[in-house]
Amino acid sequence: MNLALLFDEDFVAPDRAVLRGRRLAHLQSVIKVVAGDTVPVGRADGQLGTGEVIRLTDTEAELRVTLDQSPPPPLPLTLVLAMPRPKMFRRILQTCAALGVKDLWLINSYKVEKSFWQTPWLSEEQLRENLTLGLEQAKDTLMPRVQIRKLFKPFVEDELPALIEGKQALVAHPGTSTPCPVHLNRPSLLCIGPEGGFIPYEVEKLEEAGCQSVHLGPRILRMETAVPVLVSRLFDACL
Ligand code: SAM
Repeated sequence: MNLALLFDEDFVAPDRAVLRGRRLAHLQSVIKVVAGDTVPVGRADGQLGTGEVIRLTDTEAELRVTLDQSPPPPLPLTLVLAMPRPKMFRRILQTCAALGVKDLWLINSYKVEKSFWQTPWLSEEQLRENLTLGLEQAKDTLMPRVQIRKLFKPFVEDELPALIEGKQALVAHPGTSTPCPVHLNRPSLLCIGPEGGFIPYEVEKLEEAGCQSVHLGPRILRMETAVPVLVSRLFDACL
């Protein structure tokens, strides 16, 4: 946690916030704050700044908050991910948030197991918590928006063409002939397949909708590795 992300409900006055639970535990056991110390904070969807610890008990830390810096710029990327296996999902969400992805779509695909959609990590509360962990890691405040589409074909036929408009659209697919581009500086959309990859029918549908298939070389990367490799290859801005 490189900053404590503050939400509206944490504020007890315009310049004072109270931390409890995980964020308090981190301040106490990792940063080992004492009253009078200053810690980095940010307001969700707002500015970055500092919080002076003005009261510290076993259950609460009250901070006097000054917010005066902008968060890093968002990546101009819409990321479309086939729903990952639950045990990878939290990490991938945190990674996306840390990399600056703000527009994330979780979609179904033939090789996404039905049970993946039952994971409790998809609840509003868990999505927010894991995205918060990623933002806190990267010192960002802008909460990503997550959209869930449990049917592949209606998403690709009815929604994807409009999402792609005005963007460079790519689907990462091993074994295609075009290498993944670098140094993109315009709005883009990237689709990443599930653990077993997109099936040929899905790649065709994504291409029909306007995505270009690109590869990352002969090594097949796990999805949790492919996400940061692809995003950092496309955008210098996330480094
Ligand atoms: N056996 C699957 C296949 O051949 O498509 C492997 C899927 S990989 C574990 C998961 C996803 O990561 C892929 O669908 C793709 O989007 C991306 N990916 C991994 N390695 C890649 C590579 N070398 N080139 C392009 N995309 C890759």
